Parts: sequence; structure tokens; C-alpha cells
Amino acid sequence: MPRARAAAGGALSIAMVICWGPRAAPVSSGAVMEQGILTLKNGTEVPFRVVRSASRRRSYALQVKEGVVEFRAPRWVGLAELLRFGQSRYRFIGNRLQEQARKAAQAAAKAQPKDWCALPPAWYQRAAKRLYPPRLAHYATVVGVTYSSLRITSGRSVWGSCTSTGAISLSWRLLLVPAALRDYVIIHELCHRKYMSHGPRFWALVGKFVPDYIEKRRALNRLGAEIG
Ligand SMILES: [Zn+2]
Repeated sequence: MPRARAAAGGALSIAMVICWGPRAAPVSSGAVMEQGILTLKNGTEVPFRVVRSASRRRSYALQVKEGVVEFRAPRWVGLAELLRFGQSRYRFIGNRLQEQARKAAQAAAKAQPKDWCALPPAWYQRAAKRLYPPRLAHYATVVGVTYSSLRITSGRSVWGSCTSTGAISLSWRLLLVPAALRDYVIIHELCHRKYMSHGPRFWALVGKFVPDYIEKRRALNRLGAEIG
């Protein structure tokens, strides 16, 4: 953690020491004694806090931690002196604030969930193997068709498929969407056992079992992009 440092009670023009690595981490366990808003030369207002220690150290320091200027100083150094020191380091503080804001933005972007999965994919795979076959068998009876096999895939945008030989595949990611949407995909694939295209007769058949299939398709497309 880079810090600016000054000799206590002396001139404020002492060169800034910029440290990198663990040595720069605060070591003393002080108490926050004062806090407020520090107005820098360029008008920027930054919250500050002063961590005081009983030590007889000859210097004090400041660092910028998550957008807050933290002074670490012995008790006998006055607040006015610390604030003057802070103002004299406005460039250092400004740079740190910018850098930290950039890093925070990057971290926030990284934290965007790519997937809704709270558990490892293998868990969903196993769950799908257990849960899908009875659903598929049930709806095959409802639609009045047969199928030859069921394969669980990890498709993100392709929720399911059906071959002309009746091999059906369903993505385990359907476990992450509402059950009604999952059932729609199963019915959709089973309807392909009668029509191997997405023609009007196919949709008419799907509509017999899922009257609001248009909305469900839309919802799945939206979720596909979100889960994607
Ligand atoms: Zn289809």
C-alpha cells in the first residue's frame, strides 16, 4: 500500500515514500480518534480518519484506503497539522483515489455472474440425470410419442434437441429456470417426434399442450442470454 510520509513537527515538504508489498500494511493497532472531510486544493472532498497510537514514533503517514484518507499518527500530533499534510499531498491522494476507483470498477465488472450456478456443474448434471427421465417419460405419454434415448448436455443457448431417431438431449441448465419453462422444452422436443421442423403444424401441436408457448420461448431466450 503506497503511503505518503512526513517527519513529525517538521517541514511538510519531505519526499513521499511509496512502498509496495506487505511492508506497507499498517502494523500498529491504533484507534480511530478523529474523522471528517478533507478538502483538497483542487476542491475534491475526501473523507478522512485519524488512527492514533500511543507510540513515540517520530513520523506520521497517510494512505488512501478504499476512498478514505487514513492518517496514522502518534497522539501528540495535532489534527490541523495532519490536515495540512494531507492537503500538501493532494496529488498523491488524487492519484490513489483514481486508481482505487478504477480497480473497484474492474472488480465489479469481474464479479458480474456469468452463470447462475451456485453449485458445481457436476451436481446439476447428476440432478438432471435423476429428474429429467421421469418428466420426459410423463410428457411422452401426454404427447403420444416415443423416444429412443435421453442425453444430458451443458448447452447454454441450446436448451434441447431431438433427432429423427428419437434421441433427445436436454441441457442441465434447465434446472436453473422455472419448472414450467423446463416442461415446455421437454414438450417442444417431444413434438419434434411428429414434426422435425419448426413449421406451422409443429407449433400448432406445441400450442395444444403449452398454449402460451410464445411467451415461454421468449423467456427462455432471455434467460439463455442471462445464463449464457
Ligand atoms: Zn425445436
